[in-house]
Amino acid sequence: MNTILQQLQQVHDRIAAATAACTRDANSVHLLAVSKTKPSADIKAAYDAGQRQFGENYVQEAIDKIQALATICPDIHWYLIGPLQSNKTKIVAEHFDWVQSVDRLKIAERLSAQRPASMPVLNICLQVNISREPNKSGVLPEDLPALAAAVAELPHLSLRGLMAIPEATDDQEKLTAQLLELQQLFDRMAPIYSTMDTLSVGMSNDLEIAVACGSTQVRVGTAIFGSRNA
Ligand SMILES: *Cc1c(COP(=O)(O)O)cnc(C)c1O
Repeated sequence: MNTILQQLQQVHDRIAAATAACTRDANSVHLLAVSKTKPSADIKAAYDAGQRQFGENYVQEAIDKIQALATICPDIHWYLIGPLQSNKTKIVAEHFDWVQSVDRLKIAERLSAQRPASMPVLNICLQVNISREPNKSGVLPEDLPALAAAVAELPHLSLRGLMAIPEATDDQEKLTAQLLELQQLFDRMAPIYSTMDTLSVGMSNDLEIAVACGSTQVRVGTAIFGSRNA
């Protein structure tokens, strides 16, 4: 069995190969390790291998791990990448460094109001529903400019970029078209908002194509920690 250390190294190798293939700088793509459903010991193993950015989907599960690891892994940056309901915004504002699943103003307003003054601003990515699947989270591309403009005004947030989960499809052309639309949205917005530097897209199965389409951060779970129980 491969260890987390070896699998992490393999993912770094994949990122290096993917950036080289499209003549991008190897350091232009960051790795977010997605640790949902995995125990704190797995996070610690990745931490000991040098990983510092971790993504979680479920608020209570994440808070438990954040608290368990607070003293032994003090410099972890925690990212919420799962859906966020308004009754959980306060605990999220108090514990996370990033929220990448913001898709409506009400949630952003609550996060800004509830971010403790003693903490740095909360980093935000707006989640975009690039595949336009009806039951999927994310703002539609045509509604993105207004949401971004409103979020950028909120005092305790920093608008860092966009996040998307492309359609689960084997159709590479369709996937590429969606990723290129996302890249275009990002390229249009980044000059307007000086804090925007993050295009979060690409997972275990599609990180290469995401890197080819401008991703600056891939979110990888399975390829590092192994498969999850359903
Ligand atoms: C689970 C998850 C990932 C990681 O997916 P893998 O296929 O396990 O790499 C990335 N992003 C989000 C939003 C997720 O929920």
